[in-house]
Amino acid sequence: MYYNKFTMIQDLHAHTYYSFCSDDTPERVVEAAIAGGIQQLGICDHNYGVGCARKEFCWDQGTKLNADYGKTLTRYYDHMSAVREKYRNKIKILCGIEICTLKSKDSYALPTGADVSFFDFALVENLDHPMSITNGDIFTFAKRCGCPVGIAHTDLFRFIDSIGEDPYRFFKRMAAQGIFWEMNVNYDSLHNFQSHDYVGEFLKNKTQQEIVKKTGVRLSVGFDGHIAKEYKPLRVKTTCKLIQDMGIHLAFEGR
Ligand SMILES: [Zn+2]
Ligand SMILES: [Zn+2]
Repeated sequence: MYYNKFTMIQDLHAHTYYSFCSDDTPERVVEAAIAGGIQQLGICDHNYGVGCARKEFCWDQGTKLNADYGKTLTRYYDHMSAVREKYRNKIKILCGIEICTLKSKDSYALPTGADVSFFDFALVENLDHPMSITNGDIFTFAKRCGCPVGIAHTDLFRFIDSIGEDPYRFFKRMAAQGIFWEMNVNYDSLHNFQSHDYVGEFLKNKTQQEIVKKTGVRLSVGFDGHIAKEYKPLRVKTTCKLIQDMGIHLAFEGR
């Protein structure tokens, strides 16, 4: 595959030990991305991992929710900002947060008052779940976040169809609000080496591509890595290239 100097290679979805399901230090994750030729890396830990100040701290104390959720979010942000500075000559790092919107007894969903507006971006998951605190309304929820928002690992065309909306109008609204859509190219043991069907579908479905292109919605590419040694940067690079060759812009392209 041919990459020219204008091809932007981004991975906007990487986890570190701030997520319950990862043990990698931010440095380990960043260095895997640099080695893999990634130019722009979005570290994007789960709000519940961050909010509990990492599992070993809160679970060891026998309590799941840290008393000062807000402080844990800013501390994580500050830590990632330091990591960004450390690697600033080698890679562009964005500090994001992946927001669980699932109502559950474990309180994993982002608490109502938690401020995430200072993050570089937020990835919203479970939008299409009947128990989502978004109530299926990404537009209102993105406003509540107050930072750039992307929709994580969701078959958006199927979701739009399920709520009886017109895809063109829905994507047009997303573009107007700057909401981007993630192409999740994960393939690792944590997810039983399952890839996302909606990504494969989008990459071959010209009608879907035309809607995204015409409405101006941006896409992001994310490996959703939880285990640095299983990172597959080629999946990321190939997808970035295919999207840009369609004339579709990536989120934060040119920044
Ligand atoms: Zn997720
Ligand atoms: Zn994730």
